[in-house]
Order: sequence, then structure tokens, then C-alpha cells
Amino acid sequence: MARFIFITGGVVSSLGKGLMAASLAALLQARGFRVRIRKFDPYLNVDPGTMSPYQHGEVYVTDDGAETDLDLGHYERFTGVPARQSDNITSGRVYRDIIAKERRGDYLGATVQVIPHVTNAIKEFAVADTDGLDFVLCEIGGTVGDIESLPFIEAIRQLRNELGRARTVSVHTTLVPYIAAAGELKTKPTQHSVRDLTSLGIQPDVLVCRCDRELPQGERAKIALFCNVAPAAVIPALDAKSIYAVPLQYHGEGLDAEVLRAFGIEDAPAPDLEAWYDINDRLQNPEGEVTIGVVGKYVGLPDAYKSLTEALVHGGIANRVRVKIRWLDAELFEGSADDGGIAAHLEPMHGILVPGGFGERGSAGKIESVRFARERAVPFFGICLGMQMACVEGARNMAGISGAASTEFGEAAEPVVGLITEWMGAEGLQRRAANGDLGGTMRLGAYPAELAGNSHARAIYGASSISERHRHRYEVNVHYREPLERHGLVFSGLSPDGELPEIVERPDHPWFVGVQFHPELKSKPFDPHPLFKSFIEAAVRQSRLV
Ligand code: GLN
Repeated sequence: MARFIFITGGVVSSLGKGLMAASLAALLQARGFRVRIRKFDPYLNVDPGTMSPYQHGEVYVTDDGAETDLDLGHYERFTGVPARQSDNITSGRVYRDIIAKERRGDYLGATVQVIPHVTNAIKEFAVADTDGLDFVLCEIGGTVGDIESLPFIEAIRQLRNELGRARTVSVHTTLVPYIAAAGELKTKPTQHSVRDLTSLGIQPDVLVCRCDRELPQGERAKIALFCNVAPAAVIPALDAKSIYAVPLQYHGEGLDAEVLRAFGIEDAPAPDLEAWYDINDRLQNPEGEVTIGVVGKYVGLPDAYKSLTEALVHGGIANRVRVKIRWLDAELFEGSADDGGIAAHLEPMHGILVPGGFGERGSAGKIESVRFARERAVPFFGICLGMQMACVEGARNMAGISGAASTEFGEAAEPVVGLITEWMGAEGLQRRAANGDLGGTMRLGAYPAELAGNSHARAIYGASSISERHRHRYEVNVHYREPLERHGLVFSGLSPDGELPEIVERPDHPWFVGVQFHPELKSKPFDPHPLFKSFIEAAVRQSRLV
């Protein structure tokens, strides 16, 4: 039967709880345990799909088509366990389901309340689908004391009683700030945060204390004393050089050993951390450096492109080079094609990447970036919207289709990219109304693609059929295949029915690939995605030319 590790956070947000959960899971996995990580989000959105990337960072998509919190991306990158719909729940989803049941009359006249109805739904979610697992890590979003997270904390409290102490452990992450005027690290915020948690009925077993310098023994002992935990269970968490150094750092501080001890497990096998040492060796001792220009819209907030950033790092790990990312606002390039402005920005780049995105803003600049990469033979990688813009660019500037555009930006004389309202999914034909809801109505999740025999894509993947994750509403219109291919833009990956273009490439270019899906979502540091590995390899070649 699975054991449960409940992870809460106190004092402030952004303490790296998600990374801690992912690292702990990776460490347990390295000891041979089977793990799964779940995220409980207290906000009232049903899922983050409709939230602005500025609000919430990237929306992470699972194979089974869920739009989830970006922490699920960390979980999958650190453990290699594919995240699922059933690994992320929000208050919005809980309430939606409860209200639907109430309307159906399923509660048989009962008064529907937070306790027990909401807490029961949360508990059911926590324990569902956990057969065959050794540990389920449940990360509660937000900060202890928030109104919104109370039902989740209460559900954990109940679960600890129902499952028993031998099957549940509580890990609480807090901040130990350094106060310059006093010249000291202060433990009081941690004490207060643990007091809040215990007042809700949960005594933490392990405390993870974020601090910006060594936590002296004295402070450690003080935290242990006031917070009612063993001194060894006070785990300092200093900033790491790279997120991939975090698992090793936590292991060094004894996090996994303390969690196991809290479960009463003293004889667990030592972890095999070889893969993590190798990743860190490659990151810390690169043999070169490449600069990739990412031309996008949300460049002020790197969290909006979290998986992309990581996948580029993974491409660097695979090639033993450091990848520097230059975030370039696509709007910089608008109307500047002839004045040298775009060249000044893009010439120093060893690779140009146009990522996914929504809406017209910045699209002209993205199209100009595609053109620059094509004309100057700079490695180009277009992802989702980036592939769509590559097709519009090819249609306009190579195939002479001057009215080529995406209907996402308004009516188009030549809809090279158009809205799809029907496609084949795993459950048969999927239909959407053109003016339907925005939430959860895109082509979402894993879809297969067939790769053409002698294509670059096939060589990169080393396979003829692939499955990749999607999140988009528009598609490149396959009816433009002929004129585009005649002008060098080959449709090398298609949906099995041949209707939906999945990959385009330019065989006469050193490296020019556009993909309709999001390969970055499946890349891992110990298993870099083949497209990112190959793109960075091309950037390394480019760096030797310039
Ligand atoms: N906006 C485009 C669409 O909906 C691309 C989406 C994306 O890049 N994820 O099809």
C-alpha cells in the first residue's frame, strides 16, 4: 500500500516547494521506490488553461490532455514518470464536481458542506489510482494560513488519522531569513508558520528551511526545539547552482533519509545517483557555449516558458555545452526588417527559436525572425505557433501567396493556418464549436504522427511514428502543402490520417524544423528530447562558423 508524503509551505510563496517535492521523489526513486507526485492547487480556476502566463507561468500539458500547473513539469522532468490528469486538482474542479452532483440530487437532500463534502473529494483524489506505488507525494499549493488552502490542510489532517502515522509523513517548507541589521538568521517566521500548521492539526515531521547561507547548529537546534521535531529533521535548503543540483544537495542534507526515518524505514537501499552526478558534471564542466534567441511574447517572465528553458538546457547537457538564452520580444522586430534592427539582435544567435503563443501581438516580428533564420541559414526551431509562423512566412515570401495568414489573427484571404473544429482523437472524432468556451477545448494531449521516409525529422527521432503533446486551436492547412513543398518547406510529419501537418522542415537549410506540438514537455535532463539535442548540436556547428 502506498505511503503518503504531504508537502506544505509556510511564510512566503516561491520557496521552491515544487522542486523540493520533485527532488525528494527523484531521491526515493533512486533508492528503488515507485513514486508519483500530485499537486493540489487552492485557486478557483478549474485548471490553469485559461490563466495568463503572466499570472501563472506555463501551462503544462499531460499525455492525457490535462492542462496543469507547471510544477507537474518539474515532477516529470525529475522522475521521468509521465504526469496525468489525476495528478493535479484545483479547488475549482472540486467545487465544479460537487455542485454538479448537488444539482443531480446525488446528495439525497443533505446540506452540502466544506467538511465533509469538499474534504472527502480532496481525500478521494489523493488516494485514487495509487496501486503499485510506494510513495505518493502530495504538494499543497499556496502558503499555510491562506483561506483558500484550509480545506486541503483539513483533508490531510483527516487522512493522517485514517491512514495512520506509519503511512503518512508531513514535510513543511519554510523560510529562515537573514536580517542584515542584526547580522543573524531568524527562526521566528518558521516557528510561527509551524504554529499555524499545528493549530490546524498537523505536526510536521520534517522541516525544510530555505536560507541564503549556512544554517548554524544553534539555529537548527532552536528550530527543532520550538517546532517539536528532531534536530536532524531540520533540513537546510540553500540556493543551488542549478535546479538539477537540488536533488544531490538535499540528499547531502539528509532529506530522503529523514523522510524514510519518519516512516520508520531504516533499511532502505542507498540511492543510485549516478545519472544526477553525470548531469551535474556536464552542466558544471561544459566544453563550449551557444546562444539561442527565443523570439516570443512573454519574454519578461521566463516561467511562461519553463519547459522550453529546461529542454534547451537538456539539449546543452546532451552536447556538453552551456546554452545561453536571449529572450527577445518579437515586437522589437516589427517594421524593422530593412533597418538592420533585426539583424543586430539576431546575428549573434547560434540558433533562433520561435515558441508557442497565442494572439496576433508580436506575430509580424516572429515571421521576420523566421525569414532571417531562413535567409541567413541560422538553425531555426519553430514550436506550435512558431511552426505556424514558419508556414505563413514560407507561403508569403517563397510561394508568393501574399494573403497568407492565420485566422487566429482575423479573417485571412489565404488561411494557411486555420481553426480546426473536427479532428480524430483516441476516442473518435472530436468536435468543437468555433465560438465555444476557451477552457479545455483545444487539441490537447498526446497525438501520433507519421514521419516521412527520408526526412530530417525521421533521422532525428530515429523512428517512423512518434507521439507528442499538443495544445493549440489552429492548424496548418494541409491544402497548402503542394505550393509550400514546391518552395522548399516539406511536410515531413503528418497525423496518421494525413490531414494535420505535424512537422515541417527545409531540406536545403542547415537546420530548419517546425513542429505543431510541444516537444519541450517531454524532455528530461537524463533523457534530452531528440529535437532539442539535434537543435543544440546544429547551434554548436553554427557557433563554429560565426
Ligand atoms: N495560438 C496557436 C493555436 O492556438 C498556437 C498555440 C500554441 O503555440 N500553443 O493554434
